Amino acid sequence: MPPPRPSLAITRHLPGPVEARAQKDYRASLNTSDQPWTPGDWVDRTRNVDGVLCTVTDSVTAEIIDALPASVRILATFSVGYNHVDVAAAARRGVVVTNTPDVLTEATADIAMLLLLGTARRASEGEALMRARQWRGWTPTQMLGTHVTGKALGILGLGRIGSAVARRAAAFGMTIHYLSREPKPTVGFTAVHHATEATFWPQCQFLSLHLPTNQETRGFLNTARIAQLPRGAIVVNTARGEIVDDDALIAALRSGHLGGAGLDVYTGEPNFRAEYAALSNTFLLPHLGSATFETRCAMGFRALDNLDAFFAGRAPPDRVA
Ligand code: NAP
Repeated sequence: MPPPRPSLAITRHLPGPVEARAQKDYRASLNTSDQPWTPGDWVDRTRNVDGVLCTVTDSVTAEIIDALPASVRILATFSVGYNHVDVAAAARRGVVVTNTPDVLTEATADIAMLLLLGTARRASEGEALMRARQWRGWTPTQMLGTHVTGKALGILGLGRIGSAVARRAAAFGMTIHYLSREPKPTVGFTAVHHATEATFWPQCQFLSLHLPTNQETRGFLNTARIAQLPRGAIVVNTARGEIVDDDALIAALRSGHLGGAGLDVYTGEPNFRAEYAALSNTFLLPHLGSATFETRCAMGFRALDNLDAFFAGRAPPDRVA
């Protein structure tokens, strides 16, 4: 008799092909109602479970990890960011954590460009005008935005997604600047490296954030740094809300020091600061970075690839703890 398939709990409803593969290869318990798990669900739904496939909406704290049954040996998150998992607590308990890099790079870079263009060209205001049936016709001065071609884009976090945004922006005729301790490889675009913040911020007519969330990067875009951006600069955030000091960003958007902000991610999401919705110079999306059917399937398959490797006794390719 073959050994029983490992037992896998999946915390959210995933695309059909991903759930089908999980059910084929695992004794998988699905979340068909798609209600996010409560801390109590983490206790109830992981009894006798070997692995958990979780998502960015699960706050997997040290308390939750410490309360997991000993049977749970791996947490595979359906995301590249893993700041929602206390990886130190997982490592202490000997629970392996994996993520899903690469497969969501292009989709997220597309959303960053959508936010950049949408904010610069006032797409949100334009669309609202049309839906309200308030358009009175073309005029030479109506809803003038900010030109993109020829402008400088600063990339903060020139990794997988930052580089994919740089490639797209270069095709839009933008010049690329990035801040990092050491120069990074730039494939498919050229970019100006800045080793110091003093030279970087004043260049950024546009700024796109792609930092991971950690102790060093939480609240990184603060009042002092925003003050060094050129007047009228546009900030785009597809990384995590926590990278930004919301008070500082809102104040700069209100004062006109910043020309606009395109945001996909928010501290405390799905809640977010009411001021962002009240300002006309923001362009807001509900965390759509990786939200294409193809990408979400690829993310699920990548999480399952990691689980498959782990339960076959191999090293999971995307182990982060
Ligand atoms: P990545 O390849 O690891 O890129 C992150 C980059 O940031 C790395 O090049 C890293 O450089 C750099 N970095 C780290 N700390 C820095 C600092 N203090 N100053 C300057 N650069 C710094 O990660 P990725 O795959 O591009 O993903 C980036 C983030 O995007 C994820 O962590 C996630 O939170 C977010 N994300 C959001 C969505 C969405 O739906 N909106 C989708 C996917 C990802 P080193 O390697 O040299 O440290």
